[in-house]
Amino acid sequence: MAIISSDIGDNDFSLRKKELRLVDSKIIPEEKRNNNLNIARPVTFKEFVGQEKIKSSLRIAIDASIYRKEPLEHTLLYGQPGLGKTTLAFLIANEMNTKCRIATAPAIERPRDIVGLLLGLKEGEVLFIDEIHRMNSLTEELLYSAMEDFRLDLTMGANRGARCRTINLPRFTLIGATTKLASISAPLRDRFGLSQKIEFYTYDELKQIIINFSKLLNLNLEDEASFNLAKISRGTPRIALRLLRRVRDYAQVVKKTNFISVNLIKKALNSYQIDEKGLDSLDRQYLSFLNQNNNPTGLDAIAAGLGDDSSMLEFVVEPYLIQIGFLTRTPRGRLLTAIGKQYIDSVK
Ligand code: ADP
Repeated sequence: MAIISSDIGDNDFSLRKKELRLVDSKIIPEEKRNNNLNIARPVTFKEFVGQEKIKSSLRIAIDASIYRKEPLEHTLLYGQPGLGKTTLAFLIANEMNTKCRIATAPAIERPRDIVGLLLGLKEGEVLFIDEIHRMNSLTEELLYSAMEDFRLDLTMGANRGARCRTINLPRFTLIGATTKLASISAPLRDRFGLSQKIEFYTYDELKQIIINFSKLLNLNLEDEASFNLAKISRGTPRIALRLLRRVRDYAQVVKKTNFISVNLIKKALNSYQIDEKGLDSLDRQYLSFLNQNNNPTGLDAIAAGLGDDSSMLEFVVEPYLIQIGFLTRTPRGRLLTAIGKQYIDSVK
C-alpha cells in the first residue's frame, strides 16, 4: 500500500501565494503529477551526481547487508527540500534489489494507517516516510518496536477489557526523510542506524545534472548555458530541473527551437522575471524594502511592510540572499550588505 499525501507541508507558504515561485525548492503540484520527472530520477549511484561521502558510506552499508543477507539498517536522510532524499530512497531500494513503498508522515494520521503500511511490507522491502518529523506521537510510538524488533505491539479494546497483541513483521528498512532534524524526537532518531546529511550541490554538480536532464529532454544545450543555469539554481537539483523545463517551454513555444543558448536562457528567465543572479520579484521586493529603510529592520516589520508571512521570508527568501552575500542578520535586525545595496540600486 502506498500513501502519497496531497498535503504540501507546514512551511509551504509559497504555495499559498497567488503565484508559484520557480526558485522555491519545495515540490509544486505540477511536479507531483509530472511523469517526465521520473525519467530524471537517477536509479544507480553512478547516475546520482555529487554527495560522494554519502554515496560511499551507503555503498559500504548496502554491500555489507547484501553480504549478510539482511535488510539495510534504518536510515535517516536530512537536508533541504529538493536535494535528492526521495531519489536516494528509491536508489537504495534499487541497489538492494527490492521495492520502495512511499508515504508521507502527515498522511499517516491514525495508528491503523501505520499498521496497514507495515503489514503490507514484504521481507527486505524499503518503507520511505517523508517529512518524518511530522509523525504524531501515537503512530510514532508504534514505529519504535517495529524498527527495533520488527514487531508490532498493539492494544486492542479499552479499559478493563483491553489486551495486548503482538504481531511479527517482516524485516524491512525504514528510510526517514526530514528537512528539520531538530524536530525529530530523540527516541525516534536513536532508532536509525545510519544518518546522512544531504548538502547543497556545487555549480559543477548542478551543471552535470542539467546536462543529463537536457539529454533526456532532447535539448541541445550550450556548455556555458548549462553553467549559467546551475549558478542560479540555489544549490538545489529540483530548482535546476524546474528552470530547465521552463527554459525549454520558452525555447519551443516562443523560439521554436531545441537549441538552448546563453542568450535564450537570459530571455527565457527574463520572461519569468528572474534576473541573472537568479532572484525573482519577491526577492527584489524584499531587498527594495530594506533599501528604503536604510537601517537594521526586524523580520516582523519587513513581513508587515511586504504583506507576507515572516516565517516564509525567514525560511524561503532570506537563506539565498544571505548565501550570495546580499543580506546579513544582526541582533538589531536584517541589514543589506554593500553589494546587496549596489545590486538593488542598479535594478531600480
Ligand atoms: P527531496 O526528496 O530531497 O525533496 P527529490 O529526491 O525529490 O528531493 O529530488 C528532486 C529532483 O531532483 C528529482 O527530480 C531528482 O531526480 C533530482 N535530483 C536530486 N538529486 C539528484 C542528484 N544527485 N543527481 C541527479 N538528480 C537529482
